Amino acid sequence: MRLFSLESVIDEFEELTKDAGGHQRETLRKILEQNGEAEYLQKLGLGGRTDPESFKARVPLVTHSDLDPYIQRIANGETSPILTGKPISSISLSSGTTQGKPKFLPFNDELVQSTMQIYRTSFAFRNREYPIGNGKALQFIYSSKEVKTKGGLIATTATTNVYRTEQFKRTMKDIQSQCCSPDEVIFGSDFQQSLYCHLLCGLIYSEEVQFVFSTFAHSIVHAFRKLEQVWEELCEDIRSGVLSSRISVPSMRAAVSKLLSPNPDLADSISNKCMRLSNWYGVIPELWPNAKYVYGIMTGSMEPYLKKLKHYAGSLPLMSADYGSSESWIGANVNPSLPPELTTFAVLPNIAYFEFIPLEKHVGQEMDNSPSTIHYIEGEPIGLTEVEVGKEYEIIFTNFAGIFIVLLSLSLLVACLYRYRLGDVVRVAGFHNTTPELQFVCRRSLVLSINIDKNTEKDLQLAVEEAAKLLAEEKLEIVDFTSYVDTSNEPGHYVIFWELCSDAADDVLRCCCNCLDTSFVDAGYVSSRKVGAIGPLELRIVHKGTFHDILDHYLELGGAMNQLKTPRYVSQSNIKVLQILNMNVTACYFSTAYGM
Ligand code: AMP
Repeated sequence: MRLFSLESVIDEFEELTKDAGGHQRETLRKILEQNGEAEYLQKLGLGGRTDPESFKARVPLVTHSDLDPYIQRIANGETSPILTGKPISSISLSSGTTQGKPKFLPFNDELVQSTMQIYRTSFAFRNREYPIGNGKALQFIYSSKEVKTKGGLIATTATTNVYRTEQFKRTMKDIQSQCCSPDEVIFGSDFQQSLYCHLLCGLIYSEEVQFVFSTFAHSIVHAFRKLEQVWEELCEDIRSGVLSSRISVPSMRAAVSKLLSPNPDLADSISNKCMRLSNWYGVIPELWPNAKYVYGIMTGSMEPYLKKLKHYAGSLPLMSADYGSSESWIGANVNPSLPPELTTFAVLPNIAYFEFIPLEKHVGQEMDNSPSTIHYIEGEPIGLTEVEVGKEYEIIFTNFAGIFIVLLSLSLLVACLYRYRLGDVVRVAGFHNTTPELQFVCRRSLVLSINIDKNTEKDLQLAVEEAAKLLAEEKLEIVDFTSYVDTSNEPGHYVIFWELCSDAADDVLRCCCNCLDTSFVDAGYVSSRKVGAIGPLELRIVHKGTFHDILDHYLELGGAMNQLKTPRYVSQSNIKVLQILNMNVTACYFSTAYGM
């Protein structure tokens, strides 16, 4: 028996979204009332007013750095109400792969509540179309290290914090089925060992698995690449009933050993299936015959992994998960049958107070040389129900949780709480009742910029996709990629790093390099290349396993695999990652596309 009925969750959502505007006003009122004592709000002279008009008039829009002084004090252990009216119990680490270091975020009950609300909502809609029974789920979920801040606050990733709560465990049992692996695997201290055990537990319960999940598509792909390497060892464990010696964490070893007993029939069946597969196509439905779908975030920076994921999933539907950040949840996927490329997120109007900055792409050449953001003409922020279908916006939110971000070194980087600019660009695809359904477009920040050129993560992804078509003709694929701006010599140039599934011929890679160069179509880049103000693009091929080493590096820093995203841009200050990349270069090519 579920603790709640799915119909009532859907009814509740329909009710909420019928009056999104009313719920937004109410949400803002609650946030401002709860936090009225906060020094930040007191200083702005809101004087207890909680209406959107006064709020907008008094409270400025903020980005990361604006709240640094407040955050520093909280992280140092000051207990007076600084940004929130309530004390902060623990801090979440965001993946932080963009800045190169994780950032800390405060974490409290509201975040657990909103997480449950969003999970329940999308599950109710998902289950209406693809009902699952009482079985288990193969979930590639991991915790991260805990770090103590100077003030004694415990920092760990948002997902780890959520997994620890009783409420999460109960809700998950209800809505996401029970994870095949015991807690000792999820909270294990060694990611590689946890991954192996997740696969093993998944195979032990293969008949019961209802779906396959990880927070990000990337982790699912990573897991099945691993399966390709270790399937024989996994079969051996199942055959003999003895866990591989590679599992050395005592608690994990004990917990997984308990689940194992010699089962030669299961081992033979798995082994036969693996051998029959052609290039691992459709491995998921083959080994988990009762799985109904694969679930995880597949949008935004996860798009590059979709092709491989589709390959492993074969005939199974892929369903993209909800949209949020360590700072706040934003929307639920209530149209689960849409393909991942078209996924939309219906904003939950009681989760935070949202505003949207209208964005119009500026066409023509930039003169301001600002390297920090892509150039858009910005309008005045508007409310949730005022956005228009087809238009693009940057999201601003004001949430319950109270947010701040600190570098691992405990120097401060980012802070936010009220009218926080998330930095994501979204497009309005339509409305569910009166709440907008958003499509994720890109992160607003630039990854590649030398002078007047402006390229975002999305531009990079499109260029890589274009060049990958040339590889596909040779039956080759990109395992992962990232980029770097090399300004050590004049003129500076873009460097793209690729890890490939197997070796490619020189002439193919030369063509790919030229293709990458011409696929950046931003006017600033093209004109700079033509006049030689930006040098020829360089493609560097790295050894297999290089991106694995990069993930290991972030795990060492305290990131959790659940939240890690490959950084698509490596800054010059990210010395360690640059070192890993450059140590592993096997070949490099310079573009001849612009004749120099
Ligand atoms: P983090 O705070 O490190 O967990 O990263 C949050 C960021 O991940 C968001 O601001 C988005 O840019 C991205 N993100 C989260 N969920 C999605 C999603 N469903 N689709 C696309 N991008 C997402």
